[in-house]
Amino acid sequence: MPLRFFNTYSRQLEDFEPRDPAERKIGIYTCGPTVYSRAHIGNFRAYIFEDLLQRHLELRGYKVHRVMNITDVDDKTIRGAREAGIPLTKFTAQFKEAFFEDIEILRIKRADEFPAATDQRHIVRMIEMIATLVSRSLAYQADDKSVYFRINKFPDYGKLAHFDLTHLQSTGRVKHDEYDKEHIGDFALWKAWDEEDGDVGWESPWGRGRPGWHIECSAMATALLGEQIDIHCGGVDNIFPHHEAEIAQTEGVTGKKFVRYWLHCAHLLVDGQKMSKSLGNFYTLPNLLEKGYTGREIRYALMRVHYCAPLNFTWDGMEEARQALARIDEWLARLRETAGGKIDLRKLDLQIGEQFEEALDDDLNISAALGFLFETIRATNRAIDDGALDSAAARAWLNWWEEINTVLAMEADEAARPEEINAMMDARAAARLAKDWRRSDQLRDELKAHGWEVRDTKDGQKVTRRTGS
Ligand SMILES: [Zn+2]
Repeated sequence: MPLRFFNTYSRQLEDFEPRDPAERKIGIYTCGPTVYSRAHIGNFRAYIFEDLLQRHLELRGYKVHRVMNITDVDDKTIRGAREAGIPLTKFTAQFKEAFFEDIEILRIKRADEFPAATDQRHIVRMIEMIATLVSRSLAYQADDKSVYFRINKFPDYGKLAHFDLTHLQSTGRVKHDEYDKEHIGDFALWKAWDEEDGDVGWESPWGRGRPGWHIECSAMATALLGEQIDIHCGGVDNIFPHHEAEIAQTEGVTGKKFVRYWLHCAHLLVDGQKMSKSLGNFYTLPNLLEKGYTGREIRYALMRVHYCAPLNFTWDGMEEARQALARIDEWLARLRETAGGKIDLRKLDLQIGEQFEEALDDDLNISAALGFLFETIRATNRAIDDGALDSAAARAWLNWWEEINTVLAMEADEAARPEEINAMMDARAAARLAKDWRRSDQLRDELKAHGWEVRDTKDGQKVTRRTGS
């Protein structure tokens, strides 16, 4: 069966045909964080889905080049910096750092490039693209000095979201400043400077200002991946207006189809409700680490449901994740014992466990893939109990695990390291991030008491079992 994905644009499952099938190179663009606060677990659900996508494509022999943008200038970042009384770059730097820490804890592969919207090269490109759109009457400068995209001039506008523009006209809430626009749905490409922006701004043919959020992605995606990209991902809340706007701007400039496959990750709910600060069910990664869960447990809990279906996050679900991983750990230990001796995985070439990969070929059906994994665990455990699994078979299954773990990234850091120690390591990473040095030192002492030595290196903390104590 070929790889296939649900394309939001066609609303159909489509066989995957990359732009350049011979080279097997794929360009993926994923909308990254806006660095005005710590990302929440709903964001990470989408990033973990994108990680699963990349890892599976790589397992299938594709060479993936992935770009994830960092939005480090917009209304929220400017407001945050103003309220904190510090420069914008200083304000956003702390959340960029936190984001990179979080993705490492969650074992999310780093993108090949993380372009920042405030990078001068990209600002130049954004201005060039806006100028082209203005020259083609696809954009105009309004009385408020901002530049807007003229959606009535782009007939395909609304096709991704399957959105009727007349609906937008009748129900859109009109803010005072939006009377300057020709159509309520026209979106800002360039926002004219105002006092609230302080010292944030760039010179442009339309005066001092800053780019709109949507044009950032169009400029960076085409600069780094070319005029047409294979796969563009994001959360469902990015579909409209953000991705719709990306299509209009990019195709308005290039005249070519921008994206071949649009993949969107469904919402994350907490106890069946939308996550919100006012409901007290809003969680960041450190919030979960503080409760004693590890990065891989959280990764499992956020990955296990098909990306097109809403994921309901619950504490029971976290416990299930913990148990599922414990079963995997125990299974691996039994297989290793049965396999005996030193395993040379390269010498094994048995075609087993294909159903796991085939499930992922089918629009990343992770729940079916995990279902197959646990069926396998049950069957092989039974065979070990009955003395019916020989060492060659055990090695073959271990070999298979090595392969699927390149996609899952769910093996314990060190086979011998207990979950309790991992939890303390993660808690310590979170404490260091929060610059809580007292807690960090306390955890180092606790680890020591448990017989583990922790060192801080430039690549993060490293832990080793203490000898002779
Ligand atoms: Zn974007």
